[in-house]
Amino acid sequence: MRRLLAYLGQAVLCCASYFIVVAGSASAENPKPIVIAHRGASGYLPEHTEGAKVLAIAQGADYVEQDVVLTKDKVPVQLHDIHLDQVTNVATVFPDRKREDGKYYAIDFTWEELQKLTVHERYGSRPFPNSRRFPGGFGQKIMRLEDEIRLVQGLNQTLGLNVGIYVELKGPAFHLKETGEPMGDVVVEVLKKFGYDSKDSLCYIQCFEAEELQRLKKENCPLKLVQLMGGLPKGASDVTAVMKELAVYADGVGPAIPALVTTSDGGEVKSSGFVEAAHAAGLQVHPYTIRADQLPPWAKNIEQLHDVLFDELKVDGAFTDFPDLTRAAVNR
Ligand code: CA
Repeated sequence: MRRLLAYLGQAVLCCASYFIVVAGSASAENPKPIVIAHRGASGYLPEHTEGAKVLAIAQGADYVEQDVVLTKDKVPVQLHDIHLDQVTNVATVFPDRKREDGKYYAIDFTWEELQKLTVHERYGSRPFPNSRRFPGGFGQKIMRLEDEIRLVQGLNQTLGLNVGIYVELKGPAFHLKETGEPMGDVVVEVLKKFGYDSKDSLCYIQCFEAEELQRLKKENCPLKLVQLMGGLPKGASDVTAVMKELAVYADGVGPAIPALVTTSDGGEVKSSGFVEAAHAAGLQVHPYTIRADQLPPWAKNIEQLHDVLFDELKVDGAFTDFPDLTRAAVNR
């Protein structure tokens, strides 16, 4: 609790200055791109920890991202993978609970059991400047989706902000096989409980698996749906046709940054036509992931990356591990 209060103190200080900058910076006709904190401020703190989420809000994120998987008792919790191995001490606490493939699956544990684990930095995720930062973590726990919503809504109230949530359904097909029911329904129920129930809600649902998004659309899910994709589907060459198909069920698309540009031998960076086609189909475009320490080969620095995304391609928002730097770029 003392730790949380320390974060909040920092959040208040940071937000006070950011809020002055943010306020009045966008109009309804020409909104600024949204800053989506990718797993929190994960350029600075272990992903999906309470610390990473509070810092993201303090740094001026418009939305914080939640990657969601289910526990054995169907509690939505925040983990990037269906496995626990890379970010927790599960192998130490439950040495006998791995499956035959040697991995520990969140779906094999109850929420009560998961609370016994501590979260640490993802193994090897930050080669620069130091892959051993936060060794062993610092006592942070796996967060339920519900806990994070309470945190975000509470900080919105105490700091006078309007930060939204950006929820990713992780492995719906896997979960369907394991539990016999669609995970999207479990997650949407939690979201509705906390007032996220219309397209105007400060909430997006994102997923790589089109089937689950299409199913949610068919079931009249009231929230904004975003199709994630590494690039165009294999064999597809007509980006306009792909975007039209997406627009039947999705409100936006979340592409990997490389899908948005082409580069020449001379180093010239040009639009691949992806963003224009998506916009023509009425889709918002929120690419992933801006990382100051893992730039695309064509970007000399994060400023150039921000310039290309926001000034040239005119994306509607972006996932970033560095919400402070992306906030500053959007506010220029
Ligand atoms: Ca994600």
